[in-house]
Amino acid sequence: MTESKKKKGALLVLNSGSSSVKFTIFKVGGDTGESTPLFGGQLDGIGTAAKLKVKTAQKELMADESWKHLDQGTVPAILPHLLEWIESKLPEDLPLIGAGHRVVHGGENFDKPVIVEGDIIEQLSNLEHLAPLHQPQNVAAIKTLATSRPELPQVACFDTAFHRTIPAVNNTFAIPKEYTDAGVRRYGFHGLSYEYIAHNLRENKPDLAKGRVVVAHLGSGASISALLDGKSVDTSMGFSALDGIPMGTRPGSMDPGVLIYLIREYDMNADDLEKLLYYKCGLLGISAISNDMRDIEENEEPGAKLALDIFCNRVAKQIATFAVSLRGLDALVFTAGIGENGPIIRDKVCAELKWMGIELDEGKNNTRGEEKISTESSIPVLVIPTDEEFMIAQHSVRLLNA
Ligand code: ADP
Repeated sequence: MTESKKKKGALLVLNSGSSSVKFTIFKVGGDTGESTPLFGGQLDGIGTAAKLKVKTAQKELMADESWKHLDQGTVPAILPHLLEWIESKLPEDLPLIGAGHRVVHGGENFDKPVIVEGDIIEQLSNLEHLAPLHQPQNVAAIKTLATSRPELPQVACFDTAFHRTIPAVNNTFAIPKEYTDAGVRRYGFHGLSYEYIAHNLRENKPDLAKGRVVVAHLGSGASISALLDGKSVDTSMGFSALDGIPMGTRPGSMDPGVLIYLIREYDMNADDLEKLLYYKCGLLGISAISNDMRDIEENEEPGAKLALDIFCNRVAKQIATFAVSLRGLDALVFTAGIGENGPIIRDKVCAELKWMGIELDEGKNNTRGEEKISTESSIPVLVIPTDEEFMIAQHSVRLLNA
């Protein structure tokens, strides 16, 4: 397709949750054909007291206002108002030309992003039981736009798709085959983040990009992945986003016998377990103080110290495990909230991996914005800010122009 035929306008990138919607508007097409972020923000508190906060790409505040009067309790009900607000801020020569959605689960069928057409919405709804806390919200946003703005093309980008390259030896649980055949296996998540890191390495560090790279995506949800030549070969999250390393409020992997015990001895059912495992474990559960790593780092209570120690130890163990999946290690990358902003955590994790040839340069680790934070003799350790929205924009533009 020639440059002139490429679509030009504004693209809405959406990440819809149960009580919040995160969004970014990109300018797409034009002379360079690039996607450039214009503004973005969050509508949160939906169902209690909705509030809109938006900043330009240059971090200037565009809106910080209560939307209580528009709050009808659900994301689908408030989304059309958000669309109106966004369009009121767009210049006339930059119409909205499409929407790209982050969708948590693509199941067995979706190994790449798709245009939402035909029975795609139904197929995505059918995956809701695999991610009951996120998928219904993602699908609801797509349905709302399909109804309120049927002329607007939509693209679904999946958090699982990047992990479809994981071989059976790493994505199969040691359970009877009938369950595996029915789809009970490791899917992995945060795929758009890992895909962005692979893209960033390809652009900026092509030699490392071809090698054996472990990426630690440490946010309030956290996972770690093993990449070989930019493709996922192993990942710590599994069938659900509960597996792997401990997170803000999720436990990471644990003895499944504990669940049987809780059902028997505490009379818990599936809903009770879901609440416990998604919202009450992890840093919050161990410390009984907070799910936020900054609070944990600042607090001197023994529970906070234990939470910090467990988190760093489990992250280090997972990195070492993935050096086995990769038969070695050429680089370690930290990303997401804690990975990008937490020198104390990076230092503690890497100290546990010194025997592997990983050593941080203390000065660089403590310098914000420094990309390579390891010593010259160490396996390279990098800090790369992730950008899932950029990845969704890239996929959406490619599909809208196809
Ligand atoms: P998510 O996208 O999963 O909601 P983020 O990637 O935004 O999460 O990460 C959020 C987490 O990052 C916060 O819960 C906080 O614990 C952590 N974080 C942010 N800044 C810092 C910091 N300076 N030091 C340590 N942890 C931080």
